[in-house]
Amino acid sequence: MKQYLKVDEWSIIEESFDPINHEISESIFSIGNGFMGQRANFEEQYSGPSLQGSYMAGVYYPDKTRVGWWKNGYPEYFAKVLNSTNWIGIDVYVNGTALDLAKCTVTEFRRELNMKEGLLIRSAVAELEDGKQIRIESTRFVSVARHEIGAIRYAVTPLNFSAPIRLTVYLDGDVKNKDSNYEEKFWNEVSKEVSAGSANLTLKTKKLDFHVTSVMTYDLFKNGEKLDLTPSTVEKEKYVGNDVTIQAEQNDEIVLYKYVANVTSRNHGLGQLVEAGSKVLEEARTAGFDVLLAEQVAGWADKWKESDIIIEGDESAQQAIRFNIFQLNQTYSGEDDRLNIGPKGFTGEKYGGSTYWDTEAYCVPFYLSTADSSIARNLLIYRYKHLEKAKENARKLGFTKGALYPMVTMNGEECHNEWEITFEEIHRNGAIAYAIYNYVNYTGDKSYLGQYGLEVLTEISRFWEQRVNYAPRKDKYVMLGVTGPNEYENNVNNNWYTNRIAVWTLEYTLETLEYLKENEPSRYNELVETLKLQPEETDKWKDIIAKMYYPTDEELGIFLQQDGFLDKEIIQVKDLKPENLPINQNWSWDRILRSCFIKQGDVIQGLYFLGHKYDLETKKRNFDFYEPLTVHESSLSPCLHSILACELGYQEKAYEMYLRTARLDLDNYNNDTEDGCHTTSMAGTWMSVVHGFGGLRVQDDELVLKPFIPGHWKSFSFKVMFRGSRLKVSVSDKDITVSNETETPAAIRIYDRDYTVSPLGMIQVESAVVNA
Ligand code: BGC
Repeated sequence: MKQYLKVDEWSIIEESFDPINHEISESIFSIGNGFMGQRANFEEQYSGPSLQGSYMAGVYYPDKTRVGWWKNGYPEYFAKVLNSTNWIGIDVYVNGTALDLAKCTVTEFRRELNMKEGLLIRSAVAELEDGKQIRIESTRFVSVARHEIGAIRYAVTPLNFSAPIRLTVYLDGDVKNKDSNYEEKFWNEVSKEVSAGSANLTLKTKKLDFHVTSVMTYDLFKNGEKLDLTPSTVEKEKYVGNDVTIQAEQNDEIVLYKYVANVTSRNHGLGQLVEAGSKVLEEARTAGFDVLLAEQVAGWADKWKESDIIIEGDESAQQAIRFNIFQLNQTYSGEDDRLNIGPKGFTGEKYGGSTYWDTEAYCVPFYLSTADSSIARNLLIYRYKHLEKAKENARKLGFTKGALYPMVTMNGEECHNEWEITFEEIHRNGAIAYAIYNYVNYTGDKSYLGQYGLEVLTEISRFWEQRVNYAPRKDKYVMLGVTGPNEYENNVNNNWYTNRIAVWTLEYTLETLEYLKENEPSRYNELVETLKLQPEETDKWKDIIAKMYYPTDEELGIFLQQDGFLDKEIIQVKDLKPENLPINQNWSWDRILRSCFIKQGDVIQGLYFLGHKYDLETKKRNFDFYEPLTVHESSLSPCLHSILACELGYQEKAYEMYLRTARLDLDNYNNDTEDGCHTTSMAGTWMSVVHGFGGLRVQDDELVLKPFIPGHWKSFSFKVMFRGSRLKVSVSDKDITVSNETETPAAIRIYDRDYTVSPLGMIQVESAVVNA
C-alpha cells in the first residue's frame, strides 16, 4: 500500500516527483477514449524506469505461446494488447542537452488527471547540470468527440537563461511490448513521409496484418505569437520527426500544439489510411486546440451527467469512486461491438487479451445502469458473434456439441494456456449466459432472446449437458475436474458455484424456450429448426436440473465450495501472521492449493448472481463462514463481499471492503499498479456503491432500492438509467430522494413500498420509513 497522491474530489494529483512512483503514476494517470489509450508517459525523453504504452483498441498481436510443458488443446498464441506508435513524443534540447527528468534536479512537479474534463496536465521545473532552469507545462488528451485525435499543448520557458531551444516533434514506431514472449518486436514499417510541419508513419503487425497510421502536425508560438520557422526533417527506421530551433530569451514562453490522428485498418481500407488520417487531422488542426478542448470538456460533462456518483463527507471515497468511473468510461464507449473491456483497459499490458468473464460478471451491470442500453447490448452481441468460435473451441477439447467460450480472447479464440484455467475454469460460460438474463431483466428487452440470446443459451446448455456426468452410486449428476472462481483451488470436483450456474443456465434456457414458444412462435419454430433442438436434449436438461449434486454441510448449513472442502485445516485469515500475506507472493503454489484460503468469492459469487433465490439466513451462514477465509487477492473479490455485507447489515465490513476495492489502484493495495490499473474490478466498485449501499436490484420489472449510508458519509447519490428514465438517487441519514431527470415516468420500490416518480418529478422518503 502506498499513498502519495493528493485527495481531491475531481482530480488525481501528484505534487512532487519521485522516480520510484513514476510507473505507478503512468498507469493511474492514463487517458483514453474507448478507441485509443495512452499511459502517462512523459512527452520529452525520460531515461528512468518507465513502461511506454500507447494502445489502439482492438489491435493485438498473437504472440506464440510459451509454456513449460505443452498440453494438447492449448492455443497456439496468447493475444497481446499492442504497444503501438509513440505519438506523444516531443524532445527538448537546450544547447544540445536533452531535457530528461531522470537526469536533472526536479525542483517543482505537478501531475494532474482532471477527471471532470478528461485531461492529463503536468508542470515541472527542472534544473539542468549546468544550472539552467527550465519550466515545462503540458496538457494532453485523447478526444472523446473525435476518436482518432490526440492533442497536446506543450510549453517550455527558460527561467534563468537565454538560449536556442530545439524541439523534436516526432512519431516513433520502434516500440516493443514488455511482455513479448520471445523479445520480439511486433511491428514492421509500411511507409513514412515527412515534410516541414507534418509527418506520417504507417506500421503493420508482423502477424494478422493490422495497419496503424499516425499522422502528425503542429503549431508553434512564442509569447502568444505564431512562429513560422523552417524545421529540418528527421527520418529513421519506423521514425519520423521535425526538428525546430527557437531563439528563446529568458522567460519567453514557447508553446507547441501537437495534433495527431491515429487511424487503423479496423476502421479504414488499407490503402486509405494516410488519406483518412490526414483528413481528420486537418479538421482537428483547423478547429484548433481550444475548440478540441471545449469539445472534450463537453463530452466528459455528458458522461458525468449519466454516471457520476457524489459522496459528501468523505473526499477520499469521492475521489476514488470518480476515478473508477472515469477509467471505465475511458476504456469502453460501446459504439463498436467488436471491442470489449480488458482487465487493464488502456493502462498496461498485463493480462494480454481483451476479454475475460470480468466483462459479463462485473462490467455489464455498470454499463446497463449508466449508459444507453445499446451499449450493454453491444457487449452481448460481441459474444454472440463469437459463438461459432466457442463451438469450435468445445470441439477442440473433445465435446461433440455445444460451445465453450474462451477464458481470454480477442477474436473469439481461446488464447489462455494454463490447463487449470483454460480447460477447467469453465464457470465463465455461466457468466455469459447470466449476462443475457441480466440484460433482459434490467432493460425488459425480451426481443434480444429471439434475436440472439437463445442461440447462445442453447449452445452453452449443450456444453453443460456434456460436461456433467451421471454418477450411479449417488444417483446424481456431478461435475469433475474444474476450477471455480477461486483460482486457489484447481481440478476440484463439484465446485458448488459451477454446478449451480450450470443448472441455472439450463433452467433459464428452458424458460426462454417456453417464452418464445408462447410469444414469438414463428421465431421459435425457426430457431428449433436451425439449432436442431431435440426433445431428448431438453429432457436431459430437465433431468440434470432435477438430479444435480450440490456439496453442502448440513451441520454448518452452508454450501461447500467443493467436495472435501471441510477436510482442509480451517484457519481464518486474521490468524495468519501478516508476513504471509499476500499468500500468492509468499507461499508455494502447493501450499496455497492445500490451504483453505480463498482468492476471491466463489460460493459468494453464486449468492450474488442468484441472490433472488436465497434467503438472508442462507446468505449470512455462508458469508460468515467463507469471508474470514478469503484473502481477496483478486481485485474482483472485495466488491461482491461489500454488496453482500450491505445486504446482511454488516455495515463496517461493507465499508472496509468498499475501501479496498475503491482505492485499490490509487493506494496501490496489491503492489502491482505499475503494470496497469484493475479496470474491470472498477465496475465492481461502482456495484458496491449502487448495488451495495444503494441496494439496487431489478425485480419483476421494477427498480428496487434498499439504501443505507455508511457512518462516515453525510450523503451519497448516484444516477441510474432505467427503461427510458434517468433517475438520481440521493441518500442521507434523514431521507432518500429520487429525482427523475427525464420525461419518462418511473416505477420504483423503496424497501417494500411502491412509488412512481413522475416526469421531471421527485419523491422523498423519510429514512425512518426506510429503516422500519
Ligand atoms: C481472477 C479472474 C479474472 C482475471 C482477470 C484473475 O486474477 O482470478 O477471475 O478473470 O484475474 O481480471
